[in-house]
Amino acid sequence: MKKYFLSIDQGTTSTRTVLYDSKFKYLDQKQIEITQFYPKSGYVEHDAEEIWDKTYKTLRQLLRKYDLKSNQIISIGITNQRETILGWDKSSGKPIGKAIVWQDRRTSKFCEILKEEGLEPEINEKTGLLLDPYFSASKLRWLKDKSKSIFKKSTTLFGTIDSFLLWKLTEGRVFATDITNAARTSLFNISNLKWDDDLKKIFGLEGIKLPDIKNNADDFGTTSLFGGEIKISGMAGDQQAALFGQACFDTGEVKSTYGTGCFLILNTGTKILRSNNKLLSTVGYKIGGDVTYALEGSIFVAGSLIQWLRDKMKFFLNAPETEKFAKSANKNSEVVIIPSFTGLGAPHWKPDLRGAINGLSLETSKEDIILAALEAICFQTKDLVTALKNDGAKIKSIKIDGGMATNNFFGQTLSDVLSMKVFKPRNIESTSLGAAYLAGIGSNYINLSELKDVWKVDKLFEPKKSYEKKYLKYLDSLESLS
Ligand code: ADP
Repeated sequence: MKKYFLSIDQGTTSTRTVLYDSKFKYLDQKQIEITQFYPKSGYVEHDAEEIWDKTYKTLRQLLRKYDLKSNQIISIGITNQRETILGWDKSSGKPIGKAIVWQDRRTSKFCEILKEEGLEPEINEKTGLLLDPYFSASKLRWLKDKSKSIFKKSTTLFGTIDSFLLWKLTEGRVFATDITNAARTSLFNISNLKWDDDLKKIFGLEGIKLPDIKNNADDFGTTSLFGGEIKISGMAGDQQAALFGQACFDTGEVKSTYGTGCFLILNTGTKILRSNNKLLSTVGYKIGGDVTYALEGSIFVAGSLIQWLRDKMKFFLNAPETEKFAKSANKNSEVVIIPSFTGLGAPHWKPDLRGAINGLSLETSKEDIILAALEAICFQTKDLVTALKNDGAKIKSIKIDGGMATNNFFGQTLSDVLSMKVFKPRNIESTSLGAAYLAGIGSNYINLSELKDVWKVDKLFEPKKSYEKKYLKYLDSLESLS
């Protein structure tokens, strides 16, 4: 009898379930988009009931399509959008109001007040994070202020999307999260690996019951919703799942995911590496008694720059065409793009900066601008890698994934710009693969060292030419904007 893994990947724009065979080979997936609610400027909400319905549907569709019985599923892994928070009723399992999504900025004033009170250093020391509405704690405080009576009720549970999905899958038997999701709430102490009462107090959340914290490969209970029992034994936030799916198991290994934005994570080993460059210290993963820390930086605009060229500039119809156009650009083009459409993320943190194109001449073609767009994403990655190095990291190579990783011209340019080897794996869906790997370990099907041999490279890009001159031009342009 053939056996499989199911990986639930609950993202910001869609929910999907991916089917892997017992050797972690990608077989198929079912994906459904989820509704985005923008009730006010700066507000972003999700309907958690819709998220659950669609998650359940994708699971059921895959099982039905291949006529799979529950005893053919070795285990389920869950990965999810991080930081998004909600409350739900313990007995009915129904969400109370909408989930507040990680992008939501409604608590920026509250965070400013805490900053003025001088609380950021303590929060940073304990959590490795910055004081920002991005993380769950201030959003949870908002939920508390909005509905004090609900908050007091012992029948209400609060948690991130992972814990809600787990509650639903186990029909209310398990109220738990994993260590990487916990690490993004701002209520979790990354040194002693526990919920922190001082942090709860800072955010005005004393007495709140938070989910039990489990390892990433662990016993998360079972689901009986699909016939017999299926184990759930892997869980991680999306970026950490991608780190794991890229088999970045050694200190100094880096993965960079290029989707709408770009998320770069470095494995810093058993030690917390503190950043002087506004990168976030966080938990990479925990297996058994061993915790692996990570340093994370994100770029707001990556694939969305390509989308802008496609949808607003109408330069091409499909993102993959950028490869062909960039190859025929003028090799001496001086065009530089600063893609700060929505400000700049790490390590610059300039929320109010807006985008610019420099170095235009009458010779400039569409191709030159497309080339500059791909280069801009590489230059921003170099800024992050430089920040990591300045924080003491030793990085020799980088593993890429996400939609843009399919662009080989981009992979080569990245290698040139970073003067570093760039690896593209066979499966660029590292996030769902990471959750499947974790489910494999959690169900005692495979161990970490065996997994190293499972991960396979599709393409290796090695530096061929120097990009120093154009990178300096980019830095000059950036400086002139700020
Ligand atoms: P997300 O998970 O954030 O929705 P994906 O990982 O699916 O993103 O990647 C989609 C993004 O990658 C889009 O913004 C798209 O413009 C970009 N993209 C996809 N394929 C290519 C390509 N071949 N070259 C350049 N950009 C691409």
